[in-house]
Amino acid sequence: MLNHSISEQNNTDLEHLFKSQLLTSTLWRSSSADDRIARLKKIRTWIKDHQQEIRNALKNDFGKPESETDLSEIFPVTAEINHSIKKLHKWMTPKSVSTPLPMLGTSGSIYHEPKGRSLIIAPWNYPFNLSIGPLISALSAGCPVILKPSEMTPHTSELISKMISELFAPKEVAVVLGGIETSQALLKLPFDHIFFTGSPTVGKIVMKAAAENLSSVTLELGGKSPAIVDEDADCKDAAEKLIWGKYVNCGQTCIAPDYLLVHESKLENLFSEMKVAIQKMYDPDFKGIEKSPDMARIVNDKHFNRLTENIEDALSKGAQLVFGGNSDQHTRYIEPTILRNVSDEMQVMEEEIFGPILPVKSYTSLGEAIDYVNSKPKPLALYFFGVNAEQSSKVLRETSSGNAVINDCVLHYLHMELPFGGVNNSGIGKAHGYHGFLAFSNEKGVLKQRVGLNNVTLLRPPYGIKAKQIIASLIKWF
Ligand code: NAD
Repeated sequence: MLNHSISEQNNTDLEHLFKSQLLTSTLWRSSSADDRIARLKKIRTWIKDHQQEIRNALKNDFGKPESETDLSEIFPVTAEINHSIKKLHKWMTPKSVSTPLPMLGTSGSIYHEPKGRSLIIAPWNYPFNLSIGPLISALSAGCPVILKPSEMTPHTSELISKMISELFAPKEVAVVLGGIETSQALLKLPFDHIFFTGSPTVGKIVMKAAAENLSSVTLELGGKSPAIVDEDADCKDAAEKLIWGKYVNCGQTCIAPDYLLVHESKLENLFSEMKVAIQKMYDPDFKGIEKSPDMARIVNDKHFNRLTENIEDALSKGAQLVFGGNSDQHTRYIEPTILRNVSDEMQVMEEEIFGPILPVKSYTSLGEAIDYVNSKPKPLALYFFGVNAEQSSKVLRETSSGNAVINDCVLHYLHMELPFGGVNNSGIGKAHGYHGFLAFSNEKGVLKQRVGLNNVTLLRPPYGIKAKQIIASLIKWF
């Protein structure tokens, strides 16, 4: 076992590490908001002092542009920290609830106790943000953590390991490096909470493992998030927002618009505006998008091959290129690609794309688009572009998705007051701000009674006529 982070571990090491966090979980149960805030501030300072190292790690892992690292890896984490620091005293204060008539004389309140020892398993696509973001929620709630970042972004995972070993003792927070085997060994341990971010397929494995120990879970999963562009949408506005949301991180974003459903009257206009938007954002000097310093690369060969096969499969089955289609195996570059005339038999419409390919289908009535969305598993996010409020509220009412955004996309991720997460196939439980704090907290309902007062005196056995009358009136009136 290495000093604080563990890279060559066996199951005994992991059990030992897990046991070492038991005392911390008990001690931290009564930790004050100020104690927890001090931990968050340590992380914030470390990030500030190591910003360039974080950028370098992401650049080495998949050519992530520095500005995108600042915007989508560092800013969401510092925003989460600042939000928690501001709100934690309030979140931790027991909340009084009103007293129902039959409970007259008592008082009720909700306490938030830390769930205890927690496991965080992170994916590779926003490897810093999606490891440290949930850690902020766990520390705010007062939970010790074992964190397993992704094996697919080794530079960032090593850096996270270094950061945690400098800031925490392993009995408080420990990073365990490794792949599937390590993840599965960790999942055998009886954690109080497991916070997993990754694919629905692995989410099911995590949930089964958690069931063995009745560990609670937050599952932040993926899927195909649709964007609907309705007949009165402003195409220029929609195109600019969709192109950024789709191609940031080279399309490797869980909440990227996976496919578009576009009203047939808007199709041509939207395509032209999307081409203009791509040009403006990724090729302003006409040197070629491949030369853009702002376009990340595909994380590894496996995903590069999967994505280029997706394009070939779609073209061979009748899809047409609106834009892009080129790629370079050597640099794992895939050009922003837009496809039209797609059908459900194509891989791009069957699987989560998770890359810079945007398939587009058209519809003639909004009901048709809604039916299409509802014929698929519930998405992580749904985006609607259009100015008619009745149409957008129809979509909100008639579809189910983890989050929804009207006239923009992806932006909700940065709104710390909103719960973030999926529903069923796209996730279970919510993250961010108070909702992240809740994920790692047990909401303990506490009832306080006065000595000598008893609300059920008349309702004790033997159940005479009076008791029966009172019970009947309870049923009738309350
Ligand atoms: P993944 O599910 O393959 O891996 C995620 C983590 O699980 C990694 O740490 C990996 O080591 C571990 N893992 C992989 N296979 C495992 C197994 N069989 N048993 C136990 N652990 C295992 O996901 P990924 O490829 O890293 O990330 C992409 C997926 O994550 C996409 O589906 C994406 O939509 C989703 N995602 C969701 C969110 C969200 O917030 N909802 C955010 C980012 C990514």
